[in-house]
Amino acid sequence: MSAAVPPASSPDVGHLRCVRRAVGGFAWEGVDVLAYKDTGSAPFAGVKRQVLFDGAGRASELRYFEVAPGGHSTLERHHHAHAVIVLRGRGRCLVGDSVHAIAALDLVDVPGWTWHQFRADAGEALGFLCMVDSARDTSVLPTEAELVALRRDPAVRDFLRV
Ligand code: MN
Repeated sequence: MSAAVPPASSPDVGHLRCVRRAVGGFAWEGVDVLAYKDTGSAPFAGVKRQVLFDGAGRASELRYFEVAPGGHSTLERHHHAHAVIVLRGRGRCLVGDSVHAIAALDLVDVPGWTWHQFRADAGEALGFLCMVDSARDTSVLPTEAELVALRRDPAVRDFLRV
């Protein structure tokens, strides 16, 4: 990290779009709606990704994910942590070995190396902000043995989509 010494003059930010307007429907000027992941790279359904703040000049990135009704994110884990804020809708998430109902403005803390999955299984879209390290490791999928262990809990077994 750079030292906390202020520069002699203010940074030139005239070239930046410091304000990008919300344009309705959880979309923003200059923010592309992207696929969640490359198709075939991991199991998921009905998830779109928007990068609201990328890693340029920051230690963290902030993304907005939206899971369509009936959809789900990938069951995965990784070294980096997630800080999640639900922005719209309802659904459920697995964090570690427990399943939680979630709704708009709930906060979800996903520590490193914790299994996690989000499902929009309440008949409506589930949209959430997710903060991550800019420099981060890639996700790991469960092995068959790890799936067997996770499925020992009936509530988790019923929840999981792989
Ligand atoms: Mn993740």
